Amino acid sequence: MSDVVADGPSVVPVTGPVALGQPTVGEAEIEAIREVFASGWLSGAGPTCGRFETLFAEVAGTSHALATSNCGSALHLALLALGAGPGDEVIVGDYTFPATGHSVLWTGAKAVFADIRPDIWTADPASVESLVNPRTVGIIAVDVFGQPADYDELRAIADRHGLWLIEDAACAAGTTYHGRPAGSLADAATFSFHGRKGITSGEGGALTTSRPEIADFARRMHTYGIEPTFSREGSTDLPIPVFNDAGYNYRMSDLNAAVMIAQLTRLPDLLASRRAVAADYAEQLAGVDGVTVPVALADREHPWQSYVVTLDPWLDRGLVAGALRQQGVQCNFGTYASHLQPVYGGDSVCPVSAELFTRHLAIPMHANLTSAEVERVTATLTAVVADPANHR
Ligand SMILES: *Cc1c(COP(=O)(O)O)cnc(C)c1O
Repeated sequence: MSDVVADGPSVVPVTGPVALGQPTVGEAEIEAIREVFASGWLSGAGPTCGRFETLFAEVAGTSHALATSNCGSALHLALLALGAGPGDEVIVGDYTFPATGHSVLWTGAKAVFADIRPDIWTADPASVESLVNPRTVGIIAVDVFGQPADYDELRAIADRHGLWLIEDAACAAGTTYHGRPAGSLADAATFSFHGRKGITSGEGGALTTSRPEIADFARRMHTYGIEPTFSREGSTDLPIPVFNDAGYNYRMSDLNAAVMIAQLTRLPDLLASRRAVAADYAEQLAGVDGVTVPVALADREHPWQSYVVTLDPWLDRGLVAGALRQQGVQCNFGTYASHLQPVYGGDSVCPVSAELFTRHLAIPMHANLTSAEVERVTATLTAVVADPANHR
């Protein structure tokens, strides 16, 4: 463990390894939690969640936002609201965290994986369309590391075949596609506020939509299928809820919502810091033999949840990663080629995703990185990939 010092708005390590990811939290979040303690309403679906939902719907450009326990629960609610169930197939962008595919399995439907664009790793619309068949009911596109997928093309495919479209915007808070905010790009979108994401309450998520029937269904089902207690508070009689559906406890607590309100205030600064780090990386890693920096397309914004480089096949990724870690630079693989995971049945074919799964390397990316740390990362990576001991 490195020494950490609580210094102003964020907790910054003063020695030790360069962290792969790190939240930016401090006095504003602590003060927000203090206020929730004083209010007496700590559990979910309370007034602080309500305030967060209003603010987050503005960020997402939708008429509704629902605070949830995490992104996986938001995905599950979106799928149920859209009617996914046994016998159905849902086409999912292959390169993603398991929550995306798992949420389809939770409904009893089958996840069918679409291969990805070789440049930005989001679902390739041609692959998506090739998988449509009479059992297909919808598409989940993933904004990979936050960069939005091709929503114009995906919407056209969905409309052509009568399918719905969900945006897994887990890493995409605050970003845009063709000038429209992430969260507003599909029938429903889902966000994660896990500690590794751009804004965080430790654990947390949200569902955004402008379709009132999806919003109403998700709100009821995220609290066991009953009307939230808070909304019954002003009632003068003694209302007894009825249960038409076996809902879940997928609520965010009001404590987490308070942290999220503070995080939303920071969001523009956090995005600017990450963009500056990405620009420095691109400049300092340009021309380094064996390393390709990630592509950020001009028609959409990249929020840089992760910074993932592609190593040439002649580099041994395991040895490169080991050498980086040994020299105090944390790193990881990118994300998962879902179709290779045994849980999904193994009958999808996604060669682009399968290959990048073996060649991607995530290097430190968070809003607290200093220029000195960025230079240390790029100098270390440059030396490690030049060392013949790390070549195949
Ligand atoms: C992190 C992530 C998730 C899961 O988020 P949780 O809040 O942990 O459920 C889902 N999808 C993608 C693309 C992610 O990156």
